[in-house]
Amino acid sequence: MDKGAINDLTKLCIHTITTKPLEIGTAIDKFSSLGAKGITVWRDAYAQYSPRQVGEMIRNSGLEVVSLCRGGFFPAADEHKRKEAIADNKAAVEEASELGAPLVVLVCGADPRQSLETSRDQIKAGIESVLPLAEKLQIRLAIEPLHPVYADTRSAITTMKQANDMVESIESDFLGVAVDVYHVWWDEGLENEIKRCGKHDNLFAFHICDWKVPSTDILLDRGIMGEGCINISRIKKWVNQAGFDGFNEVEIFSSAYWAMDQDEYLQKIVEAYKTTVLQT
Ligand code: ZN
Repeated sequence: MDKGAINDLTKLCIHTITTKPLEIGTAIDKFSSLGAKGITVWRDAYAQYSPRQVGEMIRNSGLEVVSLCRGGFFPAADEHKRKEAIADNKAAVEEASELGAPLVVLVCGADPRQSLETSRDQIKAGIESVLPLAEKLQIRLAIEPLHPVYADTRSAITTMKQANDMVESIESDFLGVAVDVYHVWWDEGLENEIKRCGKHDNLFAFHICDWKVPSTDILLDRGIMGEGCINISRIKKWVNQAGFDGFNEVEIFSSAYWAMDQDEYLQKIVEAYKTTVLQT
């Protein structure tokens, strides 16, 4: 690979949660001066501004809004909570529209008081309730399967197969899948399911980070690409072969990295992106 390709940051997107301590305006300035071209906005990041204002700030900086994180959490044993979840997801779709984000990522949810099958039925019903608004506002929704360790409360959808099954059973051009290497790297069916997802034009987003060995906290100890055991370039190759040519989104939750100097941390991310993600 030539040097130009190794330094090509045009597909680099960074999630606001990755640099959680940074105020949104600072994050936008720093991402754009690093040479990244995309930003995914977490809903907590725009607390002091309206989504519309944040969208303007992003576009003025030359960055593109890649997606809004996150909707989902549809299942609940009590009906009023399911209704609240649907209302909250509709609000997320409205916010995405104001922000100028074309996509809302769904962490679908689970309720340990009921079976995973019941939770999946409720996820399906929830998505079907939100889709008409999403279609009207031209906002796409992406189901992100989560690692099975989160099946208790965060997601009853734990594999790419389950995500593909659900998306294909609903059949809307506005519903697809977000592939996050942290959640799916271990799956022996991954290559085939990524292929399947691409064949149906359902691959909407690609999230990257690494699984540290040992991981000290399953939620807040994600690694920078290259620091752990995930073969990111292999998964990226499958994703690209499946027809995906969108952003590589760096999404890292890490109490250790949030505690360090955010400029140094961002430099590490860019270096790792060049050596681990671009250099295959
Ligand atoms: Zn993700």
